[in-house]
Amino acid sequence: MAEVNKFGLIGGKLGHSLSPAIHQLFFEYTGKSGSYELLETELEALPELMGRLREGFAGTNVTIPHKLHVMPLLDEIAPEAQAIGAVNTIKFTSAGAFGYNTDYFGFGRMLEYNDIAVTGKVCAVLGTGGAARAVVKYLADKKCAKLYLVTRDVFKVDSHFAKIAPKIKVIDYARLDALQGDVLINCTPVGMFPKVEAAPVSPEVSFAFDASVDLIYNPAQTLFLKQAAEAGNKAVNGLFMLVAQAVAAQEIWQGESYDSELIVRIMRELEKKL
Ligand code: NAP
Repeated sequence: MAEVNKFGLIGGKLGHSLSPAIHQLFFEYTGKSGSYELLETELEALPELMGRLREGFAGTNVTIPHKLHVMPLLDEIAPEAQAIGAVNTIKFTSAGAFGYNTDYFGFGRMLEYNDIAVTGKVCAVLGTGGAARAVVKYLADKKCAKLYLVTRDVFKVDSHFAKIAPKIKVIDYARLDALQGDVLINCTPVGMFPKVEAAPVSPEVSFAFDASVDLIYNPAQTLFLKQAAEAGNKAVNGLFMLVAQAVAAQEIWQGESYDSELIVRIMRELEKKL
């Protein structure tokens, strides 16, 4: 039977993870007791680890490279995680192990907190990796008017995107140059520390959109966001999403909901560590 207050992060290389700091701040600010440990594991050892966690843990997050590999080891998977095709949060109870994707909820909460509307809007997502899948699923569920997925190579895009969002239009960066839209979301690693002098799009592209969101949080202002701010756009980085996905995991584990003040409080403290 799982203990109620043991949590952790399953992944490959976890040395630089901010998750322990975020969850520690969560425990501190909410007064909940709990521990959060790093559970580095190789793929071959994952089934054995999952067996142990079922006995001793209340919940875990999951990160690269195990977000897909844990799925067959779970008893039930929430619809958003099933559609995205990746699990980043597991809840262990006496009834079994349940999988969720809280990047989906973290992204949505970031948009809401920053008053960025997507319903009925034209949205473009840059990059076609795992983060883009959760973002595309959220945007499709919120029924944006048009949804573009921007890639360097339209012939190599994962067919899973068409299942997540059947009306999605896959385009390359040359076609993006000719677009006008509302919300532009960077789901590529371009501009991330230490290669901070790169941006995934030109300033002209930023100018053609009203709001720009970067999933990157280090640096706090990427060149992409600097261009967006100079174009007069609302410009939001990924730190709120990072904390919000962790708080969404705690909501699942604790069975309680937490307001955005808590996310902001954790975020402010975390900014000092970056
Ligand atoms: P990823 O799988 O490594 O890359 C995403 C996509 O970016 C790739 O599939 C590729 O798409 C495109 N890309 C990669 N290198 C590029 C380059 N040099 N130029 C242009 N496009 C390039 O990454 P991910 O796991 O999806 O994460 C994407 C970013 O989001 C990372 O910076 C990650 O740290 C961040 N993230 C943040 C949060 C948060 O909570 N804030 C959560 C998840 C991820 P194409 O080949 O189709 O062009």
